[in-house]
Amino acid sequence: QQNELSCAGCGVRIQTESKELPGFVPVSALEKEPLICQRCFRIKHYNEAASVAVDQDDFLRLLSGIGNTKALVVHIVDIFDFEGSLISGLQRFVGNNPVLLVVNKIDLLPKSLNMNRVRNWVQRQAKQEGLRTVDVVLCSAKRNIGFERVIEEIERYREGRDVYVVGATNVGKSTLINRLIHDYSDLEQELTTSRYPGTTLDAIHIPLDDGKAIIDTPGIVYSSRLTEIVPRSFLGTLLPDKPIKPLVYQLNAGQTLFMGSIARFDFVEGERQSFTLYVANGLNIHRTKLERADQLYEEHKGGLLGGPAKEQLEEIPAWTRHSLRVKQGSYSDIYISGLGWIQVNSDSGALIDVYAPKGVKVIQRPSMI
Ligand code: GDP
Repeated sequence: QQNELSCAGCGVRIQTESKELPGFVPVSALEKEPLICQRCFRIKHYNEAASVAVDQDDFLRLLSGIGNTKALVVHIVDIFDFEGSLISGLQRFVGNNPVLLVVNKIDLLPKSLNMNRVRNWVQRQAKQEGLRTVDVVLCSAKRNIGFERVIEEIERYREGRDVYVVGATNVGKSTLINRLIHDYSDLEQELTTSRYPGTTLDAIHIPLDDGKAIIDTPGIVYSSRLTEIVPRSFLGTLLPDKPIKPLVYQLNAGQTLFMGSIARFDFVEGERQSFTLYVANGLNIHRTKLERADQLYEEHKGGLLGGPAKEQLEEIPAWTRHSLRVKQGSYSDIYISGLGWIQVNSDSGALIDVYAPKGVKVIQRPSMI
């Protein structure tokens, strides 16, 4: 029966299971009249954008209209999960429209960092992923850093067009949209919504002076990000909230680092060298001998090694092994999507095994820092 209920605001089918998906209503509010989804509720009462999530296929379908219209596409990514939050194939769908890359959460990077270097790194990596960008802006939506630049760049590249804001889930898109709402609209002015063609999903429009609008789009869920496959309650441990304090480990070949009970890093072969971890400060790191690692994990996963808890681990896909060879003289990051990365500045080369839940993106990339 419940399957047939729809939102009086946007028409989307009502569901009570998942807060992030379209049409969510808490069970306690099901009896209310008129019945509206949580997202419409927040727009109506707080003039506030809340993110909804869809998978990449649905998203690209929603977006396939953009290629034929004139628009500026603002693609927001998370600097802490860059490759995981970059929308692959975006270029194909936006056609010739310009893409402004907004890199969020830069407040998480160590304070002493040269931001120009980071910007150049982002530019190179985006290009390599096949994304052409008119510009790259670094910001922190939460801490309000670099936000004037974001506004300036939007105005500069918009040239009288609509603006579509696109991004994966958890990159801070709602935080950014809500800042834009406060910067662009009078508080009395209500947000408007309008439906994506051929769907029941409404898009939030922030009206602009010239009759155009900034249009929010649903966040994309990528199951290749650790943050999408761990239980919600573990997200707080995984997502850093403060600048990351890099952790340096001097390791000999034959040593292992456990990152909580969620991933494992083996230094298999190579001369003694240092490895620098860029992960959330709250994540428990445990060093041990490789030969003891299997047994230690069996005995202490979800306990001594740190979260997620044993029951939760049963819900997460089992680990797969990624064997990576860092070349002599190369400056690389071993990146685990949603968890962070391990920097290897190797004079002598290294052979590394990473264990992470099946499906999670694990790659070697040029060092960011
Ligand atoms: P959305 O799913 O893309 O709409 O993301 P949200 O705006 O809901 O943000 C996801 C999480 O990232 C929340 O915990 C935010 O507090 C956090 N967040 C958003 N922007 C920033 C930022 O600039 N820096 C940091 N450190 N966290 C942020």
